[in-house]
Amino acid sequence: MALIVQKFGGTSVGDAERIRAVADHVARTRMAGNDVVVVVSAMGKFTDDLIRLADDVSPTRPPRELDMLLTAGERISMALVSMALGARGVESASFTGSQAGIITDTDHTRAKILEMRPDRIREALAAGLVPVVAGFQGVSTERDITTLGRGGSDVTAVALASALGAAVCEIYTDVTGVFSADPRVVSRARRLAKVSFDEMMEIAATGGRVLMLRSVEFARRHSVPLHVRSSFTWEPGTWIVEEDPTMEEAVVSAVTDDVSEAKITVGGVPDRPGIAAKLFRELADRGINVDMIVQNTSEHGMTDISFTVAKTDLEVATIACEKVKGEIGAAQVTSDDNIGRVSIIGAGMKSNPGVTALMFETLSRNGINIEMISTSSIRISCVLRADRVEEAVRHLHTAFGLDAA
Ligand code: ADP
Ligand code: ASP
Ligand code: MG
Repeated sequence: MALIVQKFGGTSVGDAERIRAVADHVARTRMAGNDVVVVVSAMGKFTDDLIRLADDVSPTRPPRELDMLLTAGERISMALVSMALGARGVESASFTGSQAGIITDTDHTRAKILEMRPDRIREALAAGLVPVVAGFQGVSTERDITTLGRGGSDVTAVALASALGAAVCEIYTDVTGVFSADPRVVSRARRLAKVSFDEMMEIAATGGRVLMLRSVEFARRHSVPLHVRSSFTWEPGTWIVEEDPTMEEAVVSAVTDDVSEAKITVGGVPDRPGIAAKLFRELADRGINVDMIVQNTSEHGMTDISFTVAKTDLEVATIACEKVKGEIGAAQVTSDDNIGRVSIIGAGMKSNPGVTALMFETLSRNGINIEMISTSSIRISCVLRADRVEEAVRHLHTAFGLDAA
């Protein structure tokens, strides 16, 4: 008998009908002779609604209280899914992240899992129950309730699958798998049957929100097979697997878009050793992840440093830059939140020259200006004006021969 972790995202538990459909599917999986652990997200856009409520009462949103508030969303769906399972004749019990033994650090709103102690989940399984675990949450070493960052139910599912030794972690969502581009942006995007962990990490890191990046990293580190599929059609979806050396690698397998970042430019800084170190140390100490970085060639010993951060970190990052501005002798700090990024990803890019040229030609042919560029061995990203991003994705998807027939 195999153990399967099944995670259902917000749309998949969006209303009573969807919750009953989930219960039916879990029941079928049990009938087929498997043990199941269910992980649920908050219903529909409930997490966004709660964040709006918090904004309405508090300009500062104290992180501890915000976490307490947001975890309520998953609590509602776990109880409802458990009840629906009971009504369907499947014995079940719901557990909060804390009850499931998910121990995190104290970094509220983006806590990292330090340890998994899923004893109660094991006991529930041994007693023949289907445990339903609230995704996205844990309890900190200071015994406060924490959340794992937006999209964090994916991390809960993978961490449980790993700790319990599950055969597979199934991520049920509102599309039929991982596509060559966001199907909401590119109507002719194709579903990929298999994606390597390397490619999936790049897709997740550059805007393909179908899987949270940290869940992919975790799954790779702990060798958890991931299967992304639809809770509407239940058909087989996309498997995320270790790269198979016999597999013919697509030169480009996906195009992603991301408008969640903003650009900061620290202008007129002296071009000498130690300046970038000071600046990025200040940002790192405030827990800010910096993504793309570009430093201009210096003129008369002066240069500009531009980098991107999550829009949600823009305010804190700007304060950090203003603080070091004097120390590093910079002239000014400016920011721009009207940027977006398009990326092309493909494991075969390594061995195929001409990919970069085709990307730049495609953008230029369509009059789209590139503001920043960054690359990895299997990815090329360009920063553009935000309002050009979606058309850029569609043009690149066509140019790299990805459009479905
Ligand atoms: P859930 O609530 O189930 O976690 P998400 O909204 O987090 O769902 O992720 C699913 C969404 O990810 C899809 O509706 C789709 O619009 C979006 N998405 C973005 N890029 C891709 C991609 N390359 N393949 C599939 N879906 C993608
Ligand atoms: N409900 C949380 C969110 O909206 C976690 C998740 O859905 O994975 O970010
Ligand atoms: Mg998600």
